[in-house]
Amino acid sequence: MSIIELKNIKKTYSTGKAAVAALQGVSITIEQGEFVAIMGPSGSGKSTLLHLLGFLDRPDSGEFILGGTDVTSLTNNQLALLRNNLMGFVFQQFHLLPRITSLENAELPLIYAGKRHMKSDAMARITEVGLAQRALHRSNELSGGEQQRVAIARALVNDPLVIFADEPTGNLDTKSQNEIMAIIAELNRKGKTVVMVTHEEEVAEYAKRIIRMRDGKIIADEKKPGRPAEVIAKPVKISIDSIISASHTEIKRAELTDHFRQAFFAIVSHKMRALLSMLGILIGVAAVIAMLALGSGAQESIQKQLASLGSNLLMVRPGSQQLHGVSLGAGSVTRFTFQDVDAIAKLNGVARVSPSVSGGGQLVYANKNWSSQIQGQGVNYAPIHAAVPTIGRFFAEEDVRMRTRVALLGATVLKQLYGDVDPLDTYIKINRISFKVIGILPEKGATGWRDQDDVVVIPVTTGMYRLFGKQYIDSIDVEVTDLSLMDDVQKSIMDVLIKRHRLSPTKESENTFEIRNMADIKNTLEATTKTMSWLLGSIAAISLLVGGIGIMNIMLVSVTERTREIGLRKAIGARESDIMAQFLIEAVTLTFVGGIVGVIFGASIALLLALIANWTIRISIFSILLATIFSIVVGIIFGLWPARQAAKLNPIEALRYE
Ligand code: ADP
Repeated sequence: MSIIELKNIKKTYSTGKAAVAALQGVSITIEQGEFVAIMGPSGSGKSTLLHLLGFLDRPDSGEFILGGTDVTSLTNNQLALLRNNLMGFVFQQFHLLPRITSLENAELPLIYAGKRHMKSDAMARITEVGLAQRALHRSNELSGGEQQRVAIARALVNDPLVIFADEPTGNLDTKSQNEIMAIIAELNRKGKTVVMVTHEEEVAEYAKRIIRMRDGKIIADEKKPGRPAEVIAKPVKISIDSIISASHTEIKRAELTDHFRQAFFAIVSHKMRALLSMLGILIGVAAVIAMLALGSGAQESIQKQLASLGSNLLMVRPGSQQLHGVSLGAGSVTRFTFQDVDAIAKLNGVARVSPSVSGGGQLVYANKNWSSQIQGQGVNYAPIHAAVPTIGRFFAEEDVRMRTRVALLGATVLKQLYGDVDPLDTYIKINRISFKVIGILPEKGATGWRDQDDVVVIPVTTGMYRLFGKQYIDSIDVEVTDLSLMDDVQKSIMDVLIKRHRLSPTKESENTFEIRNMADIKNTLEATTKTMSWLLGSIAAISLLVGGIGIMNIMLVSVTERTREIGLRKAIGARESDIMAQFLIEAVTLTFVGGIVGVIFGASIALLLALIANWTIRISIFSILLATIFSIVVGIIFGLWPARQAAKLNPIEALRYE
């Protein structure tokens, strides 16, 4: 029974200018159980014919009948399925995968066939070729002859219809040659059809039929007398349709496991390279995690402080001293007096008013120095700014009137000057003037850029007249009874100040002082935070992009390096989707590992900053998930192209790649 029938097959290679007609109309028929040797001088088209017979390549024209079915126009994937199920290949260069054992090499076709459960078959084949002792050795620990035996075991594992051997002994010494040929002859004796390319007569001696070629044509086809093809008692029925029908379209779980193993091997065997290519992703993710942690920490503490202040606060300050870019002369800025404060306090809708001055001050206690911000405040400062002391008392109206030298210390000042000493009723020097400490201000925490506890609060009058020598108040805080009255109160403060300072009610005069609305500040802050998030987001996007390009680069290198491996995998039946999945998984593994290390790295930076610089941080599960998902997506996007490049390789060109 004929299993393969070629009719007038032609194949031309066009390399650059010259076109080489490798096969010029070849027709042959191969029966089941035959042992065919294809012979001829170098360049006569032997290998080309063998590759076409084994579906490793396609003819330009002609017909291919397999087991009675015309298979000339099948798709690449269907041909891959046929290779996987019906063909076994033995190559001159063995083409074993280097990092795995003999047994695992022999198992490979099972993976693509979705028959991993038949692993014991692989061991049986290894035993059959006499390598049971070497099953767990890696292929690079074997001699040439042993490697070729593993390759034969691999070709047999799916119980193929035909074994194709391309110069199987070309790379072997005479002893190994005889052993390998003995194995192949024995396979044929048991009924396997064998087609072998060789240029050595003594090897061809094993065959029962010799086809001689020259210049792409068959010039002789002789069956050896006295050595008839084995009569096969039970002809094999090939059902092409059931093999190429869609039963194998999905990627099997065993195959996925194999892909992950391969990805793992690829990374482990190039540790430095993997690390360097991950670096982009790693740094990107680490930066995102750290910045988000610090950003949301800062945001949280700002919000806490704003909440303690309340929204219904207006702050009246002298205007910016510039108008249309031109600096205004002295006196063009409104200076506030206590009369202004009283006038504002009397307005409708005003709950509390507190005047303030501030400046720097050199603090001395015992033998310790510290420079800090000194704020002169009114008695209402404590309720307005939620600054009622935790220890001691705030100063009273009486203190403001008498300009007494009393002070309240912020937590940082306390730590710097007193350590564990109780500060109450001690005397501290501010710019060489002695002040009595009467209380400790509640802790407010750092906002990320300013330590709010590095402050000393004294009565406003004491500050003006005794410490700073100022005649005027720097700013006035106004608490409004109800949020809905904010705009009205702002307007009436404006009116009263314009009237009191005899300003002309024009735009220019309004610029000599400004009234800031706490609610507005909140909105501004929120907008700023949003802008910051966008900024962080774009930094993240850029670094992930750069990281992705790094991954793509290394994946392309990996595809090039492993071209022959890809060719081999295709020869034993891997479809385009299988190769694609393998390289995609490798890219994603790289970026995923990079992402995870980046998360750990970024979180450590944030924690370190929290520990050392005392910053508020918040590492959210959301940001970790986001970063991880993004690194996976980057792997998919940037792995896609290299994976496609690999998947589209022509098996025989890939196998021949040097
Ligand atoms: P043989 O196996 O008999 O030595 P081949 O079948 O390998 O011969 O090659 C037949 C002819 O086709 C040779 O002239 C060879 O140079 C050419 N050829 C084979 N493969 C390719 C290819 N991939 N590209 C271009 N020319 C090729």
